[in-house]
Amino acid sequence: MESQTKNNLLEVKDVCVDYFTGKGMVRAVDHVNLHIKKGETLGLAGESGCGKSTLAFSIAKLHKPPALISNGQILFDGEDILSFDEERLRQFRWNEVSVVLQSAMNCLNPVITIGEQMCDVIRCHRPVSQEEARERAKELLEIVGIHESRLDDYPHQFSGGMRQRAVIAITLALDPQLIIMDEPTTALDVVVERDIMAELAQLKKNFGFTILLISHDLSLMGEISDRIGIMYAGKMVEVSTSEKILYDPQHPYTKGLINSFPLLMGEKKELTGIKGSPLNLFNPPKGCYFAERCPERMDICTSQDPQLQPLEPDRNVKCHLFN
Ligand code: SF4
Repeated sequence: MESQTKNNLLEVKDVCVDYFTGKGMVRAVDHVNLHIKKGETLGLAGESGCGKSTLAFSIAKLHKPPALISNGQILFDGEDILSFDEERLRQFRWNEVSVVLQSAMNCLNPVITIGEQMCDVIRCHRPVSQEEARERAKELLEIVGIHESRLDDYPHQFSGGMRQRAVIAITLALDPQLIIMDEPTTALDVVVERDIMAELAQLKKNFGFTILLISHDLSLMGEISDRIGIMYAGKMVEVSTSEKILYDPQHPYTKGLINSFPLLMGEKKELTGIKGSPLNLFNPPKGCYFAERCPERMDICTSQDPQLQPLEPDRNVKCHLFN
């Protein structure tokens, strides 16, 4: 179990998210526990389809049918968001938590100026005049490094990097405590991606918000995250500090992920990747979900699913090698 303290901004407790499809039920998030402390950045990594985006959507209660949270609690500052009614949810989103979606820069409305889109968000949630909202929008653009004179530009007049910065500015508009970023820089080139992540780290320092960062780019994640959680087939398989995940992984799946890309620092190594394909969740096996692909599989692995257990004070691992 993840540790719980009064400093936790978010606590996800034993959460399951199921998709009900014509072919049957798929459990995309499977009894996941995690916490994020106030001011912390937690990275969530894993192959496509491992459940990380579904989990992020559930935290903002943005999931829609056929997805259903079938088990657990999601506590935000001690309040269970799963019990929120529509009005409480409206206050919660943007004010307390905001989300940067995958390819967020393409979610800007192409026929409305950047300034109007920012003012819309501000005025929907705060009782301010149009002038006051415009002043706040100018301030936000400056915060993300865009001159206020660009406020009346349309999205097509911005480069990809500027559009992504504008989206980040909108998410900051109401000073949320938690920002969920789902692959925030995937569509950008590497140089712009690095610049934006460095700016984000600086903004976090200045404004003190908390980040849940989802990415498949572990080296990028390691630069900005305090801790990283690794998900496989809907389950959390290892959670630890970024340094331990990147330079001393313990779970065989985490080792495979780390061996799939070059690290920015440390010795050169041969990239081996992970054999096989992600699990078909329509027909999961009885034991450990990673058993079919695991180079360290033992007899017990195919009959019993291991528990996520503390291995060290700041590391939890779900693997029979450590039970
Ligand atoms: Fe591999 Fe067994 Fe650990 Fe699963 S429980 S990751 S199969 S060693």
